[in-house]
Amino acid sequence: MPDRTSRSVVIIGAGPVGCALATLLRRQGVAVDVYERGVEDSGGSGHSFNLTLTSRGLDCLPRSVKRRLYLQGAVLTKRIIHHRDGAISTQPYGTDDAHHLVSIPRGVLQDTLRDQALRAGARIHFEHTCLDVDTERPAVLLRDRDGATGWVEADLVVGCDGANSAVREAIAAAHPTEFWVTRDCIAHGHAEITMDYADADPTGMHLWPRGDHFLQAQPNRDRTFTTSLFKPLEGQERDRHFAELPSPDAVSDYCATEFPDVVGRMAEVEHDLMDRRPGRLRIISCAPYHHRRTVLVGDAAHAVVPFFGQGVNCSFEDTAALAALLEKARFGSGSGEPVESIVAEYSDVRVRAGHALADLSLRNLEELSERVDSSAFLARRALERRLHELHPHLFTPLYQMVAFSTMSYDTAQRVHQEFSAALDEVCRGRDLRVERDAIIAEFVRRHGGGRGNCAC
Ligand SMILES: Cc1cc2nc3c(=O)[nH]c(=O)nc-3n(C[C@H](O)[C@H](O)[C@H](O)COP(=O)(O)OP(=O)(O)OC[C@H]3O[C@@H](n4cnc5c(N)ncnc54)[C@H](O)[C@@H]3O)c2cc1C
Repeated sequence: MPDRTSRSVVIIGAGPVGCALATLLRRQGVAVDVYERGVEDSGGSGHSFNLTLTSRGLDCLPRSVKRRLYLQGAVLTKRIIHHRDGAISTQPYGTDDAHHLVSIPRGVLQDTLRDQALRAGARIHFEHTCLDVDTERPAVLLRDRDGATGWVEADLVVGCDGANSAVREAIAAAHPTEFWVTRDCIAHGHAEITMDYADADPTGMHLWPRGDHFLQAQPNRDRTFTTSLFKPLEGQERDRHFAELPSPDAVSDYCATEFPDVVGRMAEVEHDLMDRRPGRLRIISCAPYHHRRTVLVGDAAHAVVPFFGQGVNCSFEDTAALAALLEKARFGSGSGEPVESIVAEYSDVRVRAGHALADLSLRNLEELSERVDSSAFLARRALERRLHELHPHLFTPLYQMVAFSTMSYDTAQRVHQEFSAALDEVCRGRDLRVERDAIIAEFVRRHGGGRGNCAC
């Protein structure tokens, strides 16, 4: 597509988010230059794990990309819980066919989106590292593959450079009174385990919840599984390992005790957990998401822990929100509102969403590692699902609002708190398994006259 205007955007980072945004902006005829520190065929920033996409994120991508992702991903409709006693139970993610996850290797998502951005006419400059940003001009200082440095100016600079964002850190350093940022690591780390699990059900996310830790096996299209252990870490940066697993013997004892049904399928687990340092999980929050004509999108603005599987979904929603505001303001045609006020509006809406997602994601750790294994929790979830099936206008489970709706994360969080408290009231002192129908009838009697959660 030819540049229809003299408007130019510089994007730092050709990860999934930078490439998705580049495609959307090219559709508005804007000249887009993406600067990426990695080499052309690196497949992104080196993470190997799978990403789960839900309709919230998928619907922000061009239809052709979405089609390609469905062809290359595995569709998951449920969690499959492997209990301590060897029993297996399942929990559907939602109540209809649209309520599923698409599990996709990170490299595949990356390649698909890069390809799409290039086809749309974005220029991607590999081996160019952003060193600094001047938000007044705005301009970015880049170092190329030969070590030469120079400033590049644009009408709008977008930081899509991930959790360690140089763009965000440059804003924080230059404007400490107008911008705040917090950077935290949680106690849990994660490591990939090689597991031969080809005969397992490929339509569900397999989980082994074990108190403060859990194992997760995520199916791929080719019937392999990407398996990860999430567990608290011990030790400093250099010598960190999982707590209570300082030796190969400790690793094999641990797996034999906690995951006896699959330990025989983890032939290299001692190597997986001893020779490679587990990854840390970070939460990075900041506000606002802009300064003058420089704006942050994706993990550069909000790195969240992966326990809701929404990080990249939220980031794709950022790209759609920013592109829609630019289009509405006729940025591409060179007229309309000043860029500063467009990005301020973006920031206003997306900061609330990003902060709510950070909170929701952290809370979901408890659900994945502990609560999915409890019969009281399962009875409550079954009650919520039935209530939603019978009275969808009155109650929607949190997971459905977060993963499969377009309701903002902050609204979903607030609605859930209100309706969960109302349901707690009705459930108090009652046996959820025996009295489910009576509880639902009572809830409808008390709350059926209101507006229902969809109106919130
Ligand atoms: C273990 C784990 C599991 C996850 N699972 C899920 C999931 O199931 N579902 C989900 O929705 N999300 C998940 N996430 C979150 C998801 O990975 C991120 O939200 C997503 O990768 C963000 O994409 P991004 O493009 O913003 O950043 P990144 O993917 O980090 O890409 C940033 C790009 O910028 C480049 N870059 C960095 N610095 C510079 C610089 N100074 N100059 C130039 N280029 C630079 C990097 O090389 C990279 O290509 C998970 C995260 C983790 C850690």
